[in-house]
Amino acid sequence: MIFNIQRYSIHDGEGIRTIVFFKGCPLRCKWCSNPESQTYGLSLMYDHRICKNFGDCIQKGKPAIKFTNEGLSIDRANIKNKEEFRDICLSKALTVIGEDLSAVELLKEIEKDKLFYQQSGGGVTLSGGEPLSQNGSVTYFLDELKKNKIHTSVETTLHVTWNQIKRCLGRIDCFLVDLKHTEKSKFRDYTEGDLELVMTNLKKLNELREHIIIRIPVIPGFNHTLEEMKGIINLSASLQSVDEIHFIPYHTLGSEKYKMLGMDYPYSNHKAISDTELTPYLEFAKLKGLNAKIGG
Ligand code: SF4
Repeated sequence: MIFNIQRYSIHDGEGIRTIVFFKGCPLRCKWCSNPESQTYGLSLMYDHRICKNFGDCIQKGKPAIKFTNEGLSIDRANIKNKEEFRDICLSKALTVIGEDLSAVELLKEIEKDKLFYQQSGGGVTLSGGEPLSQNGSVTYFLDELKKNKIHTSVETTLHVTWNQIKRCLGRIDCFLVDLKHTEKSKFRDYTEGDLELVMTNLKKLNELREHIIIRIPVIPGFNHTLEEMKGIINLSASLQSVDEIHFIPYHTLGSEKYKMLGMDYPYSNHKAISDTELTPYLEFAKLKGLNAKIGG
């Protein structure tokens, strides 16, 4: 299931790229800026700022959807078929996030920009959520891209089974690996995940000499200290398949989405990180022989 397709991106891999965002993630990072990507099923998003109170959704959603002084109150757990709400809201205040597209349907979208990929050395990046945690349809999609000689990158946490990675090997040109921390307990406390799984998969990919670029989300209160960053950079520099590292500064753009999904945002009190705050990390990474940059 996908939740977005973003064309003409220059931030998530080489050249001009189309980013396909898959819905569903095994982690729950406290700072996540794409909360709509976390669950594997459909999500209902409601933006009270553009709601015109037409009420069609209330008719359809009784008694789970009600008007209140602050706009709609949506009891999402009691809405069995979210698909029924797709396109029901004329003002687009209530939207259904997520769509099942076949590999062939996805490819049709991708092919529209084939010329741009060829001219810029770009291609397609699978993102999420966690694209490698999807069912086998991702493998078919990657196969279609390879048949069409389109460069493929995947943004991944590597928090998946080795089998989920293995079935995609030979179909992915570049792994953009999201490496968040080197301490097990901190990783678990902030993401609900198991760092051991990530490290084991990273080592295996390294042994297979897959092309890996490390991407570090720099998050206040989690890993935004020189000591913690040095740990991640040193680990990256020790891997023979890694010669490039990207620092992705924390931003607050996702905070409004939490409200729209009826979720609490655990990181609501943190400020965005400026690029200049990343200079010491950049310098240390260069000292370690890595090509380092800010952003994708
Ligand atoms: S890995 Fe990414 S999508 Fe998944 S919860 Fe963390 S930030 Fe969100």
